[in-house]
Amino acid sequence: MVSARPAVQSLPAYRPGRNPADLAREIGVERAVKLASNEVAFPPLPAVVEAIAAAAGETHRYPDNGAVVLTGALARRYGVDPAQVVTGCGAVMLCQQVAQSFTDPGTAMAFAWRSFEMYPLLARVAGARAVQVPLVPGRPGGSADTHDLGALAAAVDDDTRVVFVCNPNNPTGTAVRRAPLERFLDAVPADTLVVLDEAYREFVTDPDVPDGLELMRGRPNVAVLRTFSKAWGLAGLRVGYLVAEDPAVADAVRRTHVPFSVSTLAQAAAVAALASEEEVRRRVAAVTAERERLAAELRGRGLEVSDSQANFVWLPVGEQAADLAAALESRAVITRPFAGEGIRVTVGTPEEDDVFLDALDRVRPAATVG
Ligand SMILES: *Cc1c(COP(=O)(O)O)cnc(C)c1O
Repeated sequence: MVSARPAVQSLPAYRPGRNPADLAREIGVERAVKLASNEVAFPPLPAVVEAIAAAAGETHRYPDNGAVVLTGALARRYGVDPAQVVTGCGAVMLCQQVAQSFTDPGTAMAFAWRSFEMYPLLARVAGARAVQVPLVPGRPGGSADTHDLGALAAAVDDDTRVVFVCNPNNPTGTAVRRAPLERFLDAVPADTLVVLDEAYREFVTDPDVPDGLELMRGRPNVAVLRTFSKAWGLAGLRVGYLVAEDPAVADAVRRTHVPFSVSTLAQAAAVAALASEEEVRRRVAAVTAERERLAAELRGRGLEVSDSQANFVWLPVGEQAADLAAALESRAVITRPFAGEGIRVTVGTPEEDDVFLDALDRVRPAATVG
């Protein structure tokens, strides 16, 4: 009998999120609300739909493996050289490429925990040690929801090849500010790559949360990861990008690229989305306004809500997380529980969020939260 590598056998089996249509059928309601995956609630941009339709006639050909047009558009948009930009099949695949390109078995990858679920899995597959630095309270007396950059810098040793800093952090939504992040980057050795995972950058409203692309300037060991899946609304098409200060870092990431993994449709859609930035900005403004309303509604109910700079909110309900999420599901609302820690709730439309709040009000006495 064949057997997978032990590192692979020890990976958790993939558990797909609840499909809203299935859930609605199961519990006998017309519609379930999915607030579990941090997509934006808007339909695809009109220009994106047009670009996909136009590109459909090209899909018998392989995509442009170098994504030249998209890479050029990104370079112009962010004022960098195309040699600094790498596109990927979702930012997730770029995370994997970073792990493959920069870690050897026995080296280490450091990141905060809890943070993006992919980081420990990537480390495991790469045979690298995952150094997980616990979050600390962002507010005095609050739950541990924020990067401890001092401890993260201290955890970097001679073996540490890569550090991921997820800013804003998924799933807690908190963001680190300019001065501590600059101090952190100053403290990390020049031969350790720091990846600022800014999947939610577009939703940041606090001007003191730095733009990684600015912070990266003059720091050749820093790269920034972004995605079209969240603010830009292309989650179903799988396209993300990495911008490195040092083109040699970008080149190394490109070398572990799976050929043709950014499809023709994804490339065309991303170019069209970039050209629709004004519309995207308006949508993002609606999301961040709704985020503040949702957080205020939750706090008004006596719940602790972490300070979010992303398009989701984090409720650190601890041991009640799994039960609360299950109770919400029985009322047709799908959230993302992290057992023993909290639930992450994506900011939906005001109507969807009201369905969530109403469900919460109905299940809370049973779940005795707060
Ligand atoms: C969603 C997300 C990504 C990337 O998503 P893709 O859809 O693969 O582009 C990367 N990092 C974090 C923290 C995310 O939440």
